[in-house]
Amino acid sequence: MTFGTILVSFLIGLGVLLLFMMGFILLRTLFFSPKQKKVKPREVVHIDGKSVAERLGLAVQYKTVSFHDPEKFDRNAFTGLHRLFQTLYPQVHNQLKREVINDYSLLYTWEGQNPDLKPIMLISHLDVVPADTGEDSGWTYPPFSGEVAEGYVWGRGTLDIKNGVVGVMEAVEYLLKQGFQPERTVYLGFGHDEEVGGANGAVAIVELLKSRGVEIGSLLDEGGNVMVGFLPGIEQPVGVVGISEKGYLSLRLTVEVEGGHSSMPEQETAIGILSRAIALLEADKIPPHLEVVEFLMGYLGSALPFYQRMLFANTWLFGGILKNQLEKSNVMNASIRTTTAPTIFNAGVKDNVLPSKAEAVVNLRILPGDDLRSVYEMVLKRIGDERVKVKPLEGETLEGDSGWDPSPVADTESAYFLRTSRLIKEVFQGSLVAPYLVLGGTDARHYASVTDNAFRFTPVEIDKEDLKGVHGVNERLSIENCEKMVGFYVAYIQEMSSLPVEVDAPPAEEGMHVAEREEEELLEEIDEALEESPEPEPVDEDDDAEEDEAEED
Ligand SMILES: [Zn+2]
Repeated sequence: MTFGTILVSFLIGLGVLLLFMMGFILLRTLFFSPKQKKVKPREVVHIDGKSVAERLGLAVQYKTVSFHDPEKFDRNAFTGLHRLFQTLYPQVHNQLKREVINDYSLLYTWEGQNPDLKPIMLISHLDVVPADTGEDSGWTYPPFSGEVAEGYVWGRGTLDIKNGVVGVMEAVEYLLKQGFQPERTVYLGFGHDEEVGGANGAVAIVELLKSRGVEIGSLLDEGGNVMVGFLPGIEQPVGVVGISEKGYLSLRLTVEVEGGHSSMPEQETAIGILSRAIALLEADKIPPHLEVVEFLMGYLGSALPFYQRMLFANTWLFGGILKNQLEKSNVMNASIRTTTAPTIFNAGVKDNVLPSKAEAVVNLRILPGDDLRSVYEMVLKRIGDERVKVKPLEGETLEGDSGWDPSPVADTESAYFLRTSRLIKEVFQGSLVAPYLVLGGTDARHYASVTDNAFRFTPVEIDKEDLKGVHGVNERLSIENCEKMVGFYVAYIQEMSSLPVEVDAPPAEEGMHVAEREEEELLEEIDEALEESPEPEPVDEDDDAEEDEAEED
């Protein structure tokens, strides 16, 4: 054999191998993420959006701001808001059991017809973050005005998350007036301190439920929305339903050395040592994992342009490229790794004195797959300097006030999830639905001990611009959204509270677990069960009619 023939056979072999690989990549791309099924539009009840917006505006006017400093807490704002609900929602007030938890949080119980079924629960929070009320704060309408103008209701809490509280109250008030009686017990839980951790609100509500032996079938909290422009390349709005949220860890880094005069500094100073530690943490990031994003793309892949779909369908080959691409976006970066953010840095008091102590705080948000211990060890390893003491910001243990692990992942094959996702598509026509990871914190994480199914979704359609209003300036919600939101909650409560007992059945030996059944088959069964229990007909109703009825009652 000449050198030439060897080369030719080698090239042919290489060509065949390449062709084979391309075929494999192509096949994986084509079969990646089946198209989401289209659903028929659903006619939901129309409670006049403008009047909902006005009532939400009234709720916004109560400055239920959470502060870490208890001195600043305005108790009258919270009790005022309670009274407002009493006035606006008399049926809820009179017909549901209402308990005030730790003076400011609310728990409503709507007894179901069948106490053997697991209850459902909808939660939100009454508190909001502060807002700058100054003239040049940038708000078009003052943040606590609750002004209804230009097609929106404006103010702090219109997106986070007094809209959720008012939306749910509106829906229950409506259903009560219609004479609807839920099969399953429905709990409504509104904490008053979510923005500062939820220790006195959600945590106390959960403790109470636990003491009563309550196990929640499915929980709905804030966290996701119907997002327009969720991902570049996907044109349809995407209803993102949070099924887990990242963990949290705040660490205090301390360096203590002998101080001294700045005219004769040591080789290394407290500030220098601490700065290097922080620089090392920023340079050597905690390694990314693609699982969360891959899972998401399993739902959305078919809507991606071909090139992107090919990358996600073939992470075995393109994982590295993907990680590099995703890292460039702060949101995607936070979705693929535990993030490290230095948030406080303190040292020194005088320009000619070397400080004996330097301190910094680093806040880490833990991706499912990592945990408190592994993250803590990675931090120590990166710093690699015993002079830097690394401790939890509060308390002695990693788990506690300064840290918690990522929350458990809810079951996306449960009937609760399938039903919720179908309902989203029915109400928000043309949208896709995908489960996702909530990057911030919500009260839902406290409910892990009473439910396996904590979903985080608020039924409003918003874009990235709207999201800037959350904890920012010009938070607002459109009147159209106000109307759809209530319609969704009405349908949600009707359906979820009527789900048959089978959906709560533990996985049985005979392959009865929902995960092993076809989605369609399961939904059909549920439909049949639902048809047996008549639902109130959706009707159009304006605000005046509502008031008339209230008077009659
Ligand atoms: Zn919130």
